[in-house]
Amino acid sequence: MQLRIARFLAQTRVEGPGERACIWVQGCPIRCAGCAVPWTWPEDGGQAISVEDLARRVLDGPPVEGVTFAGGEPFAQAGPLAQLAALLRAEGLSVLTYSGYTLETLRRGARADWNALLSATDLLVDGPFLAARTGGAAGLAGSSNQRLHFLTPRYAHLREELQFDPQRIEVRLGADGEILVNGVVSPDALEAMLDGLACVEPSSRGRR
Ligand code: SF4
Repeated sequence: MQLRIARFLAQTRVEGPGERACIWVQGCPIRCAGCAVPWTWPEDGGQAISVEDLARRVLDGPPVEGVTFAGGEPFAQAGPLAQLAALLRAEGLSVLTYSGYTLETLRRGARADWNALLSATDLLVDGPFLAARTGGAAGLAGSSNQRLHFLTPRYAHLREELQFDPQRIEVRLGADGEILVNGVVSPDALEAMLDGLACVEPSSRGRR
C-alpha cells in the first residue's frame, strides 16, 4: 500500500510525548481558514512512499518511543496509515494521530478504514483549526476547540501534562539556509517569530 506524505522527520521532541518520528501526510479535504500548512492540501502533492518503506525509515532511524501522524489529514489516508501503525505498534511504538475531524464524526462515519486507524491510535488530537480560538490553546492543540482523546491507557498518566503544557516548536536550519519549523504554534506567533528571516515553507501547523 502507498501513502502520500508531505514531510518526514525521524526524531522530534515537540510532536507528542517523548522523542517521536513524525509523518505529515499529503492531502487535506477539510481546508480550515487560517491553516498554516495549505501546501499539504492537494492530494497529488508531496511524495509517494510504500507503507513498508516508511516503517523501515522509522525503525532504522534514531530511537523513538512512537510516531505522530499529522498533516494534511491523516484520516484521508486512514487505510495505509492503519497498516503503518500496526507495523510500528508491533515493534512497541506508540501512535499519536491528529485529525481535523472530531472523534464523533469519525465514529459516526462507520468506515472500516477510519475505525482501523482509530483502533491503532493511542492518542487522538481532534477537531479543525479555528483561527478565532487560538487564544488559550495549549499543549498539542493549535486552537482551544481541539481535544485530546486517550484511546488506550498508554498515555493516560500524562493526561494533565499533555492538556496544559505550553505549546512548543523546534526550528532547524538546513545547510542551504532553509528554515524548517515544526511543533504547535499559532500562525500569528509563527509569523512574528520568523519576521525578517528568509523562510521556505515552514512545516509548522496552525492547529497542531
Ligand atoms: S489545519 Fe489541518 S485539518 Fe485544517 S486545513 Fe490545515 S491540514 Fe487540514
